[in-house]
Amino acid sequence: MESSIMSYERQRMEMVKTLIKQYGVRNPRILKAMRETPRHLLAPPHLRSEAYHDHPLSIGRGQTMSQPYMVAYMTEVLKISDTDRILEIGTGSGYQTAILSQMAKWVFSVERIKELSMEAQKNLTEMGYAENISFKVGDGTQGWVEHAPYHVIIVTAGSPRIPAPLEEQLADNGRLVIPVGRRFHQDMTLITKRGHELETTRKIGCVFVPLIGKEGW
Ligand code: SAH
Repeated sequence: MESSIMSYERQRMEMVKTLIKQYGVRNPRILKAMRETPRHLLAPPHLRSEAYHDHPLSIGRGQTMSQPYMVAYMTEVLKISDTDRILEIGTGSGYQTAILSQMAKWVFSVERIKELSMEAQKNLTEMGYAENISFKVGDGTQGWVEHAPYHVIIVTAGSPRIPAPLEEQLADNGRLVIPVGRRFHQDMTLITKRGHELETTRKIGCVFVPLIGKEGW
């Protein structure tokens, strides 16, 4: 059957099969969330038919909905547990937010572009995910100090450096994942806080839209 006439649900199951076969994603909680989340409802209506393809999608204002593999990969390296409180920088379409909300206790999500945040809030509320999500419009390079510290911080835009407020707002044994590097190419970077020490590991190469703000570009 051609993918254009395959139901969204079947396309979603195919997408998850690819994540397992091609990339080796194994975490059952991630796979469950990705099997159950109707990603097409978070894509712009004219791009819904591409929602289960493994590439980024344009969501307007020069921003993108991340590739499904990138969402799975970042979620996997963060080793999320259901008691974690998560800070997410870059709400965008809200797809990563929806996945996190199914795996953690609470998600605090910051987006700098008001229209994108409002659209994601509307969609996530209609889909029933918003019950453990708080949204904010602002510069996420400053974190969200009122609710700190966080067990997990995820940044879904590329930064020239690790914003100091994010390191400060990370709990002991907390994990921060952020693409760090040049404007058009970054290394996915995982930081684990152990007391006053920060353990930094460089992971895969990646390409994200820029993190724009006081401690970003
Ligand atoms: N994870 C989302 C969005 C990825 S695009 C998705 O998959 O749909 C990155 C998002 O980060 C964009 O929406 C962009 O506007 C936002 N962004 C960039 N700099 C930011 C900042 N300083 N604070 C908050 N959001 C920011």
